[in-house]
Amino acid sequence: MLTNDQLDRWDRDNFFHPSTHLGQHARGETPTRIVTGGSGVYIEDRDGTKLLDAFAGLYCVNVGYGRSEIADAIAEQAKQLAYYHAYVGHGTEASITLSKMVLDRAPANMSKVYFGLGGSDANETNIKMIWYYNNILGRPEKKKIISRWRGYHGSGIMTGSLTGLAGFHNKFDLPRAPILHTEAPYYFRRADLDMNEADFVAHCVAELEAMIEREGADTIAAFIGEPVLGTGGLVPPPAGYWQAIQKVLKKHDILLVVDEVVTAFGRLGAMFGSDKHGLEADIITIAKGLTSAYAPLSGSIFSKRMWEVLERGTDENGPIGHGWTYSAHPIGTAAGVANLKLIDSLGLVENAGKTGAYFNAAMADALGKHAHVGDVRGEGLMCAVEFVKDKPSRTFFEASEKIGPKLAAALLGQGVIARAMPQGDIIGFAPPLCLSEAEADIVVDKFKIAVDAVF
Ligand code: PLP
Repeated sequence: MLTNDQLDRWDRDNFFHPSTHLGQHARGETPTRIVTGGSGVYIEDRDGTKLLDAFAGLYCVNVGYGRSEIADAIAEQAKQLAYYHAYVGHGTEASITLSKMVLDRAPANMSKVYFGLGGSDANETNIKMIWYYNNILGRPEKKKIISRWRGYHGSGIMTGSLTGLAGFHNKFDLPRAPILHTEAPYYFRRADLDMNEADFVAHCVAELEAMIEREGADTIAAFIGEPVLGTGGLVPPPAGYWQAIQKVLKKHDILLVVDEVVTAFGRLGAMFGSDKHGLEADIITIAKGLTSAYAPLSGSIFSKRMWEVLERGTDENGPIGHGWTYSAHPIGTAAGVANLKLIDSLGLVENAGKTGAYFNAAMADALGKHAHVGDVRGEGLMCAVEFVKDKPSRTFFEASEKIGPKLAAALLGQGVIARAMPQGDIIGFAPPLCLSEAEADIVVDKFKIAVDAVF
């Protein structure tokens, strides 16, 4: 067992943490919280501090911490067979079972699931398959992908480029082409346009149509979006947005990729956000909630119409030249099977809808009238509180004022973890789907104290 001093030193000296200020960490200015355990909605650190995790890790520990059912399934799989690949002619009972369980839950037009490791690599798989699809259809020019500002789709080379948040592009020279960004469906931030919600939807559609017109529909392969914007600010779409966008995509034969890395398997109070929002996807990206993060696993679910073309492509060209060593990893898929069973047996999809409605209403009640709260919004167990400098004129704080980080730190001081979202003064909540109403009350009460401490 390492001493605390060793842990701190080895961490500073050796460990490259993701999404971290590297210099501050290496100089020991931002000590690492070393997490040692978790149970239900709580985690515990090495000092014995218990924190209510109202962001479920990175909105992924959907069944909550400490579930022995999943831990046991992982251990059994590891003992029986820790690894074998899924390349031509190989599989395991766990990966085959999980593919059936995913398709049984997915929208009716879906056909097959490819398993990867995380959301970023799943979206990379999607781009390759979209390009392959159009090549097989004899449309080699139809390759551009439209994403939205504030969309988050990963931090790989192409997926970082799809992501419409400046901090993920900064100084990386990610390829701009063939990615295009269009308006985010973020009505609250666009009040300056002086439009009602329906006019704003029409504006988003007009911008998309103008982009398609400018670029040429025969150069645009796909549109990618999250049913509810996640990392960009936890923003449910305005009414009618998805219906109007899909009409345009259909007209121009542009594929729809629905990125459900956050929303699949219950977060919005429905098994898939696609079903809830009436989305007819050609590809659905899944990850986080697939295993509740007990093991890394993602998936790309392909529609029947895409699958037919992919199949034809391999009839014409030989086996598909795509795969990771760890695709459909037995331990990940065993975790996925146990996790989906647990979501069903605990009724977590229903709980996310019911407790989510309670939580969002309680948050709006507690903070909606606060002088610096511009917006309280949410859907299922996703909730965001957005802060403004001046409410009547809807003036936002400068980034340098760091209001979001100050609020998150004050809340942490109250024993609750939430996330200061990367762009704007937005505090995001996305707790485990097993949250109870009593736990929701704790989060709201502590956040009110934190807000009063900051303003
Ligand atoms: N897509 C969405 C909607 C996400 O929220 C995320 C991560 O938060 C990703 C993709 C990338 O997933 P990963 O971090 O597992 O690569």
